[in-house]
Amino acid sequence: MTEPKAPATILVVDDNEMNVELLSNMLERYHYRVISSLNGQDALKLVQAEKPEIVLLDINMPQMSGYEVCRHIKSEPNTSDIPVIFISALDDTENIVQGFDAGGVDYILKPFKFREVLARVDTQLTLYRQKRKIEELLQRERQQFETMDGFRKQFIGSATHDLKNPLFVVSGYTDMLEMLPIISENDQAKDFIGSIRRGITKMNTLVRDMLDLLQLEAAGELVKASCDFEQFLSDSVQDMRPRAEAKQLNFALYPPDEAATIQIDIVRMGRVMDNLVSNAIKYTPEGGSVEIIGKVGHTTVVIEVVDTGLGIPADALPNLFQPFERVINEEHMAQEGTGLGLSIVKTIVEQHEGKIEVESLPGKGSTFRVTIPMS
Ligand code: ADP
Repeated sequence: MTEPKAPATILVVDDNEMNVELLSNMLERYHYRVISSLNGQDALKLVQAEKPEIVLLDINMPQMSGYEVCRHIKSEPNTSDIPVIFISALDDTENIVQGFDAGGVDYILKPFKFREVLARVDTQLTLYRQKRKIEELLQRERQQFETMDGFRKQFIGSATHDLKNPLFVVSGYTDMLEMLPIISENDQAKDFIGSIRRGITKMNTLVRDMLDLLQLEAAGELVKASCDFEQFLSDSVQDMRPRAEAKQLNFALYPPDEAATIQIDIVRMGRVMDNLVSNAIKYTPEGGSVEIIGKVGHTTVVIEVVDTGLGIPADALPNLFQPFERVINEEHMAQEGTGLGLSIVKTIVEQHEGKIEVESLPGKGSTFRVTIPMS
């Protein structure tokens, strides 16, 4: 009934030589390769040397019990997934449970029927091989992904880097053009120069953000320093105030109720604040409000950036923190953007072992919430 798919090695461990012989003979008739030992110590050496696909293990053995042998097998990373089936005359629940606790996958009672042993061995062998196949596939996928990701980073990195120089040249010659009387005395030519400048600014931002993101992903190390939470918040929003005022927004910082000293990479967390607050200002129409709220918990601090702006449709929320994700609608696309800011935010927050969440209602506004450990 149960022909193994490919020859499998089974280790039989029993201090009774007759039992070993009986099981070995029977299993060999079904094309299994059987190795055996009469005690726990030898069994463990054989497990390491031969890596059997199944271990049939007696419980009551002198010196080292079957439970102990099983625990050893399970504690070694290179043998821990080998299935162990206990074979024992101990039929009380206590012993059976102890067998499963030690890491056994099945339990066969003596005296056993050979067909039953064969069926259980076959089932465990199939499961073991399927598990290994899935692990191999996952490993292969992981490697492929890492290779592709490496190519992607290399490509973006060198393409972006190579763009910097020509952009610098275009920008320089635009400056020179602007100074020529033929341009400065011609309104249409000045408009054209204005459009070129906006294009250059957009490309510069894109190049800067892409290089930043790549650098952040590559350099995981944070340069942490102690700082006062409230001070950090007020320093971070200071430069944003004129932009908010220019749009006639109600712009307010609500500091935390209690003081807290936090350990952060001030430059990178400053970047988080920059991106979140400038987004809030950018995506909130004139007359709306942008609030920055600090909260102190037991071991964490929370920063909320709340706006009454355009909001984000529910279907855009799941991928919002992925690079180049932007909300595709007229109002959002009317704002200049690269779709990289929020992935930079997420990378930095996660480097601080924190999390970022967003709640948003289209037409009502958005709340971005950053939670980071104090130290
Ligand atoms: P961008 O440079 O396009 O602003 P981000 O990665 O910072 O890139 O943001 C991704 C997208 O998320 C934006 O294009 C915008 O559609 C949306 N978004 C971000 N912040 C807000 C906000 N406060 N209100 C509404 N939409 C936002």
